[in-house]
Amino acid sequence: MGGRSWQIGRVFGIPLRVHISWFLVFALVTWSLARHYFPAVLINRLPWQYWSLGVVAALLLFASVLVHELGHCLVAIRYRVPIAQITLFIFGGMAQIKREAPTPKAEFLIAIAGPIVSVVLGLGFWGLAVLPGAPPPVIAVSEHLRNINLMLAIFNLVPGYPLDGGRVLRAGLWAWSKNFHKATRYSARVGQGFAAFLMLFGVYDVVAGLEIGGVWFLLIGAFLYTAAQSTHRQVSFQESLTGLRVGDVMTTDVVALGAGLTLDEAVDNYFLRLGFGGFPVMDDGRPVGMLSLRELKAIPRERWSTLTVGEVMVPHGYQAEIHPDEPITAAMERMFHDDRSRLVVMDGDKVLGLVTRSGIARFLDLRQR
Ligand SMILES: [Zn+2]
Repeated sequence: MGGRSWQIGRVFGIPLRVHISWFLVFALVTWSLARHYFPAVLINRLPWQYWSLGVVAALLLFASVLVHELGHCLVAIRYRVPIAQITLFIFGGMAQIKREAPTPKAEFLIAIAGPIVSVVLGLGFWGLAVLPGAPPPVIAVSEHLRNINLMLAIFNLVPGYPLDGGRVLRAGLWAWSKNFHKATRYSARVGQGFAAFLMLFGVYDVVAGLEIGGVWFLLIGAFLYTAAQSTHRQVSFQESLTGLRVGDVMTTDVVALGAGLTLDEAVDNYFLRLGFGGFPVMDDGRPVGMLSLRELKAIPRERWSTLTVGEVMVPHGYQAEIHPDEPITAAMERMFHDDRSRLVVMDGDKVLGLVTRSGIARFLDLRQR
């Protein structure tokens, strides 16, 4: 999600953020409630009363969305799935979990918790609306929130990933097929189908003259379609990596630099001649550091003749090492996390090779042909 967002607080220790697009939809919701909904259900009130009710109802709507997300989060935390943050944005709320649920059962319970919370909220507002002696404004606000919460539950139960129902479907398929990737791919496909349907519906609405509703369906459809598509891609990519080890992908003819070389010599004889983006620096058969174009570029050229590789390199640490039996995904995670482009493949004290980002990309590219 592009654009700015602000942290407005924490709930149960989870950072709560509001995305810039939230303000737009908040204003839109308040406006439509104050100008259309409340004047229709409560007659003969003053404009400021309609606007106040609009603001109250809009705030309660977003509180409902937040409580729905918290439903997911609290179950996730029970299963030790950490939550990065909850973000309120144009299409509602989004709880970002840091890793996938450990079991199909956990996935199912985390997914279903949100819609259950919405149903409970819907029934609660329903109760308020029919409370004997409730003042008309309370009834009007409660009826609106009853409808919104029940609609939220129903919409989210559509079995297309990334909607909650899609996660429920994935949990079921995962339990049945014992294959998480396959289950994700399938529910993402259903999600894309549903998103396409929403977009078509939006186009139909626009053509039929219901512009605002139509544009809304188009936007939501496009958002869900993109989310489902990127999940599908990600899973296919992860599947193509399954079973691959660092040893399968590493290069074994390692060219290393000596720490005593000047940068001029390193550039002329290694970087330019061999065309690699970086080299390990070795001393007596042991890695002592890594020198890449990034460090070179930070040094003014006139100093290249006096500075040595050893003075400029990134010193070696255990973080730059990886064992050949480690899965390739572990190497990629490490590179991504530490922003490195290459790791030294080592077995004990012995350097076996080098694994690089570009090497992995080339390997996968060739394998997919
Ligand atoms: Zn949900």
